Amino acid sequence: MRAFDLVSPTRLQDVSSLLEDGKGQILAGGTDLLDRLKERIDQPERVVDINGLRELHGITNGVGLSLGSLTTIADVAEDGRVRDAYTALAEAAASVATPQLRNMGTLGGNLCQRPRCWYYRSNDYPCLKKGGHECYAVSGRNKYHAIFGGGPSYIVHPSDTAPALIALGAELEIHGAQGERMLALADFFQGPRENLLSENALGLDELIARIHLPKPKASTRSTFLKFREKQSLDFAVSSVAVALEMDGESVRDGRIVLGGVAPIPWSVPAAVEQLQGRTLSSAAIDDAAAAAVEGARPLDENGFKVTLTRNLLRRALQQLA
Ligand SMILES: Cc1cc2nc3c(=O)[nH]c(=O)nc-3n(C[C@H](O)[C@H](O)[C@H](O)COP(=O)(O)OP(=O)(O)OC[C@H]3O[C@@H](n4cnc5c(N)ncnc54)[C@H](O)[C@@H]3O)c2cc1C
Ligand code: SF4
Repeated sequence: MRAFDLVSPTRLQDVSSLLEDGKGQILAGGTDLLDRLKERIDQPERVVDINGLRELHGITNGVGLSLGSLTTIADVAEDGRVRDAYTALAEAAASVATPQLRNMGTLGGNLCQRPRCWYYRSNDYPCLKKGGHECYAVSGRNKYHAIFGGGPSYIVHPSDTAPALIALGAELEIHGAQGERMLALADFFQGPRENLLSENALGLDELIARIHLPKPKASTRSTFLKFREKQSLDFAVSSVAVALEMDGESVRDGRIVLGGVAPIPWSVPAAVEQLQGRTLSSAAIDDAAAAAVEGARPLDENGFKVTLTRNLLRRALQQLA
């Protein structure tokens, strides 16, 4: 690991000046950043430990719910308000990694964690995402890579909480040198064509302060389902987050977001359209699941993800029915 200065600001307004020269990186729970430092994938001159910023901790009630970016994933999974009204988020948080990692890892860190592509994580492969000239996954091992939105990099976004938060309509409160701005989480993530070296719209000087969830309508039903190879702990090979607003037994509106299949959480409005105005019958569910995977472009080794994702969505919708 390369030596770095550790700074621990206690005022939110001091953070951006520690980041804006591009030589600093934020440390929250450290479950992702410390691995990257040890592997020398990142070699910042300055690590900015934000754990002393009291306003970034904890969950508070507002119009909906406001979650500080330093809220641990375990606290998100166990909070009664989240479990009652934002079921998909509680289920997604509970599916992250292991109890130890959920106790250390934070919600902000989960949204900003870097890709898990094995070429990216190995110092032996100077791939496109690290400023190199080649994507090794294209002709290499690509079982876990993207089936949607890939090129020139084929990472999948690793966060489980992101698809659930997008399905539930989350907004981010972002702080930077220019002050505060709000951004829908659905607009936060950026694919490799738009932004090859990072996965989101944060400026160098910015951090996520809080995540705001709107109050769901009484008729909203939501769920999150994930397929992972190891049941003890594993990233999603594919996941689905569904939030549906019902009108009696019919679907009025909603959001369906896929995880583990694209460089960003992958919204599939075409699947929702198949459900609108219909009850959650087998025929409607089959139509939505088929629409969700339309346009998938698998690589050599990951064609199985198309069937897997279609069936996961089917199962999630059956559960909501
Ligand atoms: C073995 C293992 C298994 C895992 N399995 C899963 C899984 O199944 N599902 C899943 O979703 N994740 C999984 N993870 C990832 C884990 O959830 C993340 O590492 C964790 O959520 C990151 O949170 P953190 O607070 O530790 O972030 P850190 O490691 O502190 O930071 C992660 C990144 O986010 C940046 N960052 C942190 N907070 C902010 C902020 N507020 N604003 C802007 N940038 C910020 C940091 O600079 C860094 O680049 C796994 C990780 C490991 C090691
Ligand atoms: S998929 Fe992305 S991170 Fe992986 S090797 Fe290709 S460019 Fe690098």
